[in-house]
Formats: sequence, structure tokens, C-alpha cells
Amino acid sequence: MSTKFVSLDDVKVQGKKVLIRVDLNVPMKDGKITGFDRIIRSAPSIKELSEKGAKVIVLSHLGRPSGTGVREPEFSLKPIAEVLSKELAKPVAFATDCVGDIAKDTISKMNDGDIVMLENVRYYKAETKNDIEFTKQLAELGDLYVSDAFSASHRAHSSTEGLAHLLPYASGRLMQAELEALEKALGNPSTPVTAIVGGAKVSTKLDVLNNLTKKVQYIIIGGGMANTFLYAMGLNIGKSLCEKEMVEQCNEIMESASKNNCQLVLPVDGIMADKFDNDATIKVCSVKEIPEDMMMLDVGSESSKNFISEVLSKSKTLIWNGPLGAFEMPNFAKGTKEVAEFIATQTEKGDLVSIAGGGDTVKALETFGLSEKITYVSTAGGAFLEWMEGKELPGVACLLKK
Ligand code: AMP
Repeated sequence: MSTKFVSLDDVKVQGKKVLIRVDLNVPMKDGKITGFDRIIRSAPSIKELSEKGAKVIVLSHLGRPSGTGVREPEFSLKPIAEVLSKELAKPVAFATDCVGDIAKDTISKMNDGDIVMLENVRYYKAETKNDIEFTKQLAELGDLYVSDAFSASHRAHSSTEGLAHLLPYASGRLMQAELEALEKALGNPSTPVTAIVGGAKVSTKLDVLNNLTKKVQYIIIGGGMANTFLYAMGLNIGKSLCEKEMVEQCNEIMESASKNNCQLVLPVDGIMADKFDNDATIKVCSVKEIPEDMMMLDVGSESSKNFISEVLSKSKTLIWNGPLGAFEMPNFAKGTKEVAEFIATQTEKGDLVSIAGGGDTVKALETFGLSEKITYVSTAGGAFLEWMEGKELPGVACLLKK
């Protein structure tokens, strides 16, 4: 662990009431949990604390309740406590409030090693306001604060940041793993470092691109956003997704890259389609010959070959956010897949440290069955992007050693 942050190895937890903030904001449909990843990832720290004899008090949010005090049942954490209990193979008691007498009574009955989950912290608006009185009410319940919610760490809320100012604190194992991976990628990386930035739009990743031009040696640009760059360079991109109003920003990014010795690498060919449909009529051609009535939906094989031989084979560290094409449609998944496979191979050989994050990138890697072969896959969407933007994450900064 980077010595900068307090970890579970630095604190005594036996017999202590430990408030652990995890992110159990799982996807749900019709009252049923549809994705278990966050529960599985949160379990190890909870288990470790319980096995070390702490009284483990689990805090989380779920969704965006109104925060008016009305208990919208669809945002209750109760069903999640039941699944967590199965995952841990231990009972997880549930308190129907996260502060006040209900929480206090439940906690007062705990023995060392017991686990209690408190109700959704976002039933109170004060949580998202980082309201000091509310934070004090949470702090009263415990002796130590453990933060294991990297994916919520871009928010300065009572349970993600405020508590660290009122209680002794430590980062949990999932937080630790994220911080170690991110440190390897941008903090103190083996060079050259390459970033792959793809996805639909330049506008959502302007800050990411600007920051990366100052930090990495290569940026491979793919996906819909490559079209806007090609357009800014004066190419005709037909019907391709393009944010024409972003031309100036693209030029600024290109300037910043050249000033900082960062090479921007764009596709040289693509898979063109007459419509956004897997069964569209397809033409493979150079980006200089995109037909007027077609759109680029994937990078072509010349481009992936270039990305691999000119950039990725020389790279020691890789940060990846955003697919290279409309990979959800099998006919436009090849570019993303070829590049992902090469990255997986290099990583397995020990020649590359690879960090990937963001919803679609995670989904693409899962679709190709490659998630396990990447050094670290971050499921923290917003927090991962803000980290790529170079922003300080309040829920991380508060865990620094003093
Ligand atoms: P983002 O959320 O910005 O990372 O964008 C991800 C989405 O971009 C995915 O759903 C892809 O289908 C889409 N995408 C990737 N390449 C293209 C492209 N060339 N044209 C249109 N959409 C694309």
C-alpha cells in the first residue's frame, strides 16, 4: 500500500465499533437486485473486520431518494443486507434508520464480530450536504471510520468524507486496491504510458483528454469521439456521430498534446455503416474516404494494427476508458476486441500494467471474457473519470496519513 494513506494494517479494530462506508448502490429492477458486483467487492473488508473482532456497522447509499424523510421503499437497503449475509455466510442484522435511537439500540446489542447494516444514508438530505450535525450523529455510532467506497469518493458527503474529520479513519481493502492501481497508472508509472479514450462524445471527456495530454506519452482516440477529431482535422466524416461545436476544443487538445510531447493516435481506417444497426450495409475504408451517406461505427483493422504495433507493444502502462466502436453490436466490436486481446496478452506476460474503468469499458471487457486478464478493472464510473481528469477526490484526500 502506498504509505500515503492509512490502511487497515495501521489500525486496531478488535472490540471497536467500526463504521464502514461501502458502495452498495447496486442495479435493481422491480425490487430485485440485477448486479451483484458491488456486494461481492465490498465483502472482503467487512469480513476482515468481523474476523478481527470488530463490531462492523455498514453504511451505504442506494439510488437517489428524495431525502425529505419519506421512506420510499424502493431505496431501502434491506434486501441488500440479506444478499450480503449470504455472500459473507454470516448474519447481517438490519437497522431501519442510519441515525438516532433505532441505530443506537441495534448497535448496543452487538457483540464483537457482529455485523449490522444501517438503512440508506441518503434518506437524509443532510448526508449529501455533508451537514456537520448529521455527520456528528453518524460519528456517535462508532469508534473508527473505514472508507471502502472509492466509487462514491468524488462526492464530499457526510459518510464519504465528513466522518474522516470526526473519527480516526482508515481505507478499506477495496479502496486500497483502487488507490494502488491508480497510483501505478498515473502516480508513479512505468513509462511509456498510454491512454485509450473512446466512447461517444468528446464533450464528456474534455477534461480527461486535457489532463492526459500532460501526463501520458500516447493517447489513442477511438469511438465516436475520433470522428470529431477527424472533422477538426478537415476530413469529411459523412453521417458519423460528430460534435461539430467541439472543433475548437479538439484543436486545443491537439495543441496541448504537441506542446507536452504526447502523441495523439487516431484511426486511419474504419468500418462504415449506412445506419446505426448491426445489420447495416458495411464498407471498410480509409478515414479519408468516408462516404457521404455512411457513418464510422468501429475502427478498421489497419487502425488496430497501428495501435498495437506503434503504441501498445511499446507501452508499459495503460489507462483505458471508452470503447473504440459501437461494441454492443457484434459487427462493430472487432476493433475494441482486438485491442483488448492484445492488452490482455501483454498484461499476462507481465509487459504491461493495465487499468480500465468506466461502465462501457467494463461491459466490453466482460463481453469478451477478458476482465480477469487486466491488471485492474475499476467499476467506479464517475470517480474513475474524475481521477482521470486529475481532480482531487474528497473521499480519498481525507484518508491521507497526517
Ligand atoms: P461513453 O459513455 O461516452 O463512454 O460512450 C460509450 C458508447 O459509445 C457506447 O455505447 C458505444 O456504442 C458508443 N460508440 C462507440 N463508438 C461509436 C461510434 N463510432 N459511433 C457512435 N457511437 C459509438
